[in-house]
Amino acid sequence: MFIEAQNLSKTYGKQTAVQDLNFRLEEGQIVGFLGPNGAGKSTTLKMLLGLIQPSSGSVQIDGKDPQDQAIELKKQIGYLAENNPLYPEMYVREFLEFIANIHQVENPAVRIQEVIEWVGLQKEAHKKIQELSKGYQQRVGIALAILHDPKILILDEPTSGLDPNQRDEIRDLIKSLQKNRIILFSSHLLSEVEAICDRVLLIHQGKLVSDSPMKEIKDLEKFFKEKTS
Ligand code: ADP
Repeated sequence: MFIEAQNLSKTYGKQTAVQDLNFRLEEGQIVGFLGPNGAGKSTTLKMLLGLIQPSSGSVQIDGKDPQDQAIELKKQIGYLAENNPLYPEMYVREFLEFIANIHQVENPAVRIQEVIEWVGLQKEAHKKIQELSKGYQQRVGIALAILHDPKILILDEPTSGLDPNQRDEIRDLIKSLQKNRIILFSSHLLSEVEAICDRVLLIHQGKLVSDSPMKEIKDLEKFFKEKTS
């Protein structure tokens, strides 16, 4: 499994949102996707997910175009959107059953139980989503993203709005999912990126200004400021 962006560009009218991005992501890596607000992160993620079409250049996921193979590739991708849209009126388990049905997950009851335990929702599974704290709602979002056992996880700001303890828990959870998967995650919390990522893609004004192994970056905050000011 791989994701490859080649000369990937997107313009909205006269506004260039993303310009000539080139990168390749492989399994087993957690990659941080960073950049200031307006840098082009969401636009890039949407193109990787096949939600919007590039103006030029291409995305390939395992050699396939996400727009042409949307249904097949949806099985391979788990996505946690930044605002984590959930159905607040639904019960946690009921919601996961609903999603498992959409994905046609095999042995749904077994898989749902497995995922509930994995993300630590055992004590909350009988509650309505709206009754959960933000941290637990975020776990529901992660459960939703991994329910169909995708090889690719795209997580947009997975720990935004969480307290430090909840952040650590979600961070450990993401780490535990690393094996055999591609995990691409965006965050503004540089300490978190330092702690969790193997590699950092940094974009600024739509262009990739760095693609570096985390261990080669001594001080991410300083690095970020140097590359984006
Ligand atoms: P980020 O996620 O890094 O904050 P975005 O990808 O949302 O950045 O935005 C990149 C640039 O593209 C910004 O200048 C933004 O205003 C512009 N942009 C994003 N979406 C649209 C859109 N639908 N129409 C016009 N401009 C857009």
